[in-house]
Amino acid sequence: DVRVRFCPSPTGNPHVGLVRTALFNWAFARHHGGTLVLRIEDTDAARDSEESYEQLLDSLRWLGLDWDEGPEAGGPFGPYRQSLRTEIYADVAERLREAGHAYRCYCTTEELDARREAARKAGRPSGYDGRCRDLSAAQVAAFEAEGRSAVVRFRMPDTPITFTDLVRGELTFAPENVTDYAILRAGGAPLYTLVNPVDDALMEITHVLRGEDLLSSTPRQIALYRALADIKVGKGTVPAFGHLPYVMGEGNKKLSKRDPQSSLNLYRERGFLPQGLLNYLSLLGWSLAEDRDIFTMDEMVGAFDIGDVNANPARFDLKKCEAINAVHLREMPVEDFVASCAPWLSAPHAPWRPEAFDQAAFEALAPLAQTRLTVLSDITDNVDFLFLDEPVHDEKAWQKAMKPGAGEVLRSARARLAEASWDTDSLKAAVLAAGEEHGLKLGKAQAPVRVAVTGRTVGLPLFESLEVLGRERALARIDAALA
Ligand code: GLU
Repeated sequence: DVRVRFCPSPTGNPHVGLVRTALFNWAFARHHGGTLVLRIEDTDAARDSEESYEQLLDSLRWLGLDWDEGPEAGGPFGPYRQSLRTEIYADVAERLREAGHAYRCYCTTEELDARREAARKAGRPSGYDGRCRDLSAAQVAAFEAEGRSAVVRFRMPDTPITFTDLVRGELTFAPENVTDYAILRAGGAPLYTLVNPVDDALMEITHVLRGEDLLSSTPRQIALYRALADIKVGKGTVPAFGHLPYVMGEGNKKLSKRDPQSSLNLYRERGFLPQGLLNYLSLLGWSLAEDRDIFTMDEMVGAFDIGDVNANPARFDLKKCEAINAVHLREMPVEDFVASCAPWLSAPHAPWRPEAFDQAAFEALAPLAQTRLTVLSDITDNVDFLFLDEPVHDEKAWQKAMKPGAGEVLRSARARLAEASWDTDSLKAAVLAAGEEHGLKLGKAQAPVRVAVTGRTVGLPLFESLEVLGRERALARIDAALA
């Protein structure tokens, strides 16, 4: 049975790298009919926050990435928040020490720094040198008498660690590059290096899919897994590992959490569709087929194979992300589009008086808006002319459209519109005739009408907009523009 985990630390806002990891784990679990475990790695009280935890769960729900075991869902291997599992870690660490897989290390930070520096100068590997590996009882007593505190270190084997990465193939790490590492802080607080593999073992995780930044901790974790098997923690198997490629941002630098483009909230606030965003993020290291950028999550789940993930860094391209979102917007049923727009048509997004909103008028133009939007938040600017008492006033738009002579065209259009029957064809004919009268093509002739009525130089098709706005309001706006 496939069991995978997504195990974020609740620090700060969720970012796209995190979502990509969650997505690939989710798709892998769903493809194999397996189990996705959500585990919260909140052992760092100084950095973790409850707010960030709430946000994580909320974001996953918004995205539709559901988990089978974890906070709120429960499950047989709980609790799923590491802050509630401290006794487990203390117990495992003690057993590792008793079995000789770990030891107390009394080296001070200054001593470690000095020796590391010396090793570096001599051109030797600068990891922990094993000084406290085999202290005698007398040495331990002496350190204790000095009042030194001790961390607990894991004893790495002296042989290379080899494993087959599901994305990168066979990898080997030499022992001199993977030295003994701390698993408990001096005060006894457990570190990521311990709790992450311990929980993977106890929760019977079969596949670890995570970012390439964690690749260097994998040989350590594999060694720890073997030690856990030795002391009978978990089922004694080592999971398979697959490291997902780096995501590069601007200037071919790693996309950083601080990069505004990486904040998930930003995509939510701009009105990306979950399916549009997930579709794009799935392309960061994977593809459905060479010639297909657009697909549903069901299609992704059907086709997902971790062996197809590309090891090369993926480039984050906001323009492409927007373009993919626009296609998903366009292709959704119009009722869904109308429903999805709702949050952007009321406070705090909408600038009009709430009672001025008219659902029927909005729905009349919704199909036209649907093909034009990149993100849902664009809807407000596209339809605000319907609900504001007066159209927005944008000086630039005004100057652009109100060229010399525009007043004449507008006056003539006004007269014809006043007589026209109020349907798109007649409205178009009226403006066309006004343009002809002044030697102007339709595009030029409609510009002043558009700015007078909507306040903008671009927007939804003008004649449909006029039709829905109604004769009285349209003429009043033209009059105001001419005044
Ligand atoms: N809590 C770790 C992180 O957020 C998880 C790493 C892992 O997947 O092993 O980086």
